[in-house]
Amino acid sequence: MIRDPLLVRDRHGLCCPAGGFHVDPSGKVALAIVTHAHSDHARPGAAAYLATPGTAAMLRQRLGRVTVQELPFGQRLRIGGATVSLHPSGHLPGAAQLRIEVGGEVWVVSGDYKTEDDGLAEPFEPVACHTFITESTFGLPVFRWAPQARLAEAIRHWWAAAASEGAAVSIAAYALGKAQRLLHLLAGTGPGPVLLHPGAAAATAVLAASGYRLPDAETWAGDRPLPPGALLIAVPSAALPAGTRTAMASGWMALRGTRRQRGGGTGFALSDHADWPGLGAAIRATGASRVLVTHGFEQPLAGWLRSQGLDAAPLAQGLARP
Ligand SMILES: [Zn+2]
Ligand SMILES: [Zn+2]
Repeated sequence: MIRDPLLVRDRHGLCCPAGGFHVDPSGKVALAIVTHAHSDHARPGAAAYLATPGTAAMLRQRLGRVTVQELPFGQRLRIGGATVSLHPSGHLPGAAQLRIEVGGEVWVVSGDYKTEDDGLAEPFEPVACHTFITESTFGLPVFRWAPQARLAEAIRHWWAAAASEGAAVSIAAYALGKAQRLLHLLAGTGPGPVLLHPGAAAATAVLAASGYRLPDAETWAGDRPLPPGALLIAVPSAALPAGTRTAMASGWMALRGTRRQRGGGTGFALSDHADWPGLGAAIRATGASRVLVTHGFEQPLAGWLRSQGLDAAPLAQGLARP
């Protein structure tokens, strides 16, 4: 018997016909289950949202007056003919994978995930399933992250060298997730204070109010010089005082290592996504026999998974349209 697929693709994105909801959709849908509050997953337009409490708080901040039902990690909820639950993806505080069960068949939508425990986000939890929809942002063998502790050491080394010459430093990072991870990792460990750019301070305040234990940090308003020896966590577009030593914290920096970039900054390959070994380990841990790949290097990862004996395809080819 051929079953109806648990998820299909329509013009709003991933749709669960049995439950009548969408996953990380765009546009006007009845119910959007949102894995996390990054803008490529959490979009305006849904009549109602369902998310973890941490993500719900960010949705209210980012999308304004929206109807959000909170579903804590691990709690099951019946929606139509489907049973859903949210499980930590390790991507950032509150970020979730979505488990969907219909008639004994289980699919998991990973959202964005990282497998290293960063000490702040709820750690990635493998969820057993028949079909796993995985992201593949860094789905090439070239992407292999150093452990977080070693990257923190490299950042502190660079920070201390600047401080010894009376300079301040700034690290550009995504306002939600990476900024709080850096704050958690670096506050109180270097030669000077850690300050937050207003763009990074807003998301930090929302997560702190949601119960995540984040160190206190002063917000740097941009109208005065940075104190010598300070480390500013800034959004990538921030204008900085002359003389500030700059760096970028992103998985993409692995392509250049910590070599000098154009513009004179430094790069630290600190990512909130799984690296190549992390993707392989996470996928195996689900026990899924079928894997659909999205959000990045779909073809290379799907091809490698097929070479490992799994039924794998890019999501765009592997899912039916209704
Ligand atoms: Zn994300
Ligand atoms: Zn994403």
